[in-house]
Amino acid sequence: MVVSSGDPEERRRQAHTKALYPAPLNPGRSRNMQANRRSNTKPELALRTALHRLGYRYRKDLLLKLPDARVRPDIVFTRRKVAVFVDGCFWHVCPEHGRQPTTNEWYWAPKLRRNMERDGLANKALGEAGWKVIRIWEHEPLDGALAAVRSALD
Ligand SMILES: [Zn+2]
Repeated sequence: MVVSSGDPEERRRQAHTKALYPAPLNPGRSRNMQANRRSNTKPELALRTALHRLGYRYRKDLLLKLPDARVRPDIVFTRRKVAVFVDGCFWHVCPEHGRQPTTNEWYWAPKLRRNMERDGLANKALGEAGWKVIRIWEHEPLDGALAAVRSALD
């Protein structure tokens, strides 16, 4: 299973993260960090599997070269032009669980801000290129995530 995207920049960041964040503050935080991998997270796999069972066919991690940006949604319906992202609560700063950590804030805060900016730019570039964007928080129950994707496809 591919955990890393192969993107050298991302790999560097991951290595960097490990070096700067050697010891978990508590077991809960540690689990949370591990769940914050960029792709093939559990909620993402569950959504893909459910969609596939329902007969939907999609591309995963397809790089879309748009006029204004290169974007790699988690799930792409090319013909319908629907792009689905399953966003990690920590990395994408979910309003419920995305509270910025106070420890090492000097490291995390700019990184999280960059992620949010990148998400905003991706949404804009996709919208301008005629794509429908569905963003699902990783904490959302599968039923709700499925319903959101299906209604975008109808
Ligand atoms: Zn959340």
